[in-house]
Amino acid sequence: MNRVKGIGPAAAISSTIRALRCFSMQQILRGATVTHMPQRKLFLGVGANLDDPAATLADAVGALARIPGWHVDQVSPLYRTTPVGLLDQPDFLNAALALTVELPDDPAAAALEVLVRCKALERHFGRVASVRNGPRRLDLDIIALDDLAVIQPRPRGVDLDESGDENAMVRPLVVPHPAAHERLFVLAPLADIAPGLHAPGWRGSAAQLRDARLAVEGEAAAIRIGEWDFAAARWV
Ligand code: ADP
Ligand code: MG
Repeated sequence: MNRVKGIGPAAAISSTIRALRCFSMQQILRGATVTHMPQRKLFLGVGANLDDPAATLADAVGALARIPGWHVDQVSPLYRTTPVGLLDQPDFLNAALALTVELPDDPAAAALEVLVRCKALERHFGRVASVRNGPRRLDLDIIALDDLAVIQPRPRGVDLDESGDENAMVRPLVVPHPAAHERLFVLAPLADIAPGLHAPGWRGSAAQLRDARLAVEGEAAAIRIGEWDFAAARWV
């Protein structure tokens, strides 16, 4: 009988059990490595024009940073911008964020997970159903996600609670955001943190697109009013 020198049968059995336990722990660790989700670079546009928009946006940055596996790398300066589309409403405050986030490998699943997170945060911060381009406490737009190009019909059962916008439920998720490249309120803050970003389908970098929109909309359409202070977790 094969016995480890110096120990009796009982000790040999328990050392075998220990070895087996050790083996299964290694398997679990190996499995955990395999299922580890890739990290992706995410650019978000944030905007608000009701109540205290600067406080809401700063709190939203904090909430995004607290999502497990999400890291906020950059926060742009804060801009005061004139409303687009529906003009009779207060000015907006807008900023752009660069994040590193753990997301599923599959591009559509990754984009959808970001959208669901964003909609949950909009709800949390009290965005009530409203008309498109209407006033809002918090608006989160997925500007770009890595170099992914996604057009994803809204899957059944994903309730994003947008009953006031009758077109929202049939509007597909489109990444990069289909209007980002033609909105100064998105491009001005984005170009500050990622001037060279060239998302799929764009005709130029964020800085080039910003300059093109500046020529159309004018300097007064987006005015820089604050810089992000990481220690204070707000714009000053
Ligand atoms: P806007 O198109 O100006 O962002 P809204 O914020 O009112 O207008 O629209 C939100 C709707 O747009 C949501 O129903 C969401 O599903 C859809 N949508 C499509 N693509 C995106 C995206 N890239 N980021 C955020 N919302 C998106
Ligand atoms: Mg939006």
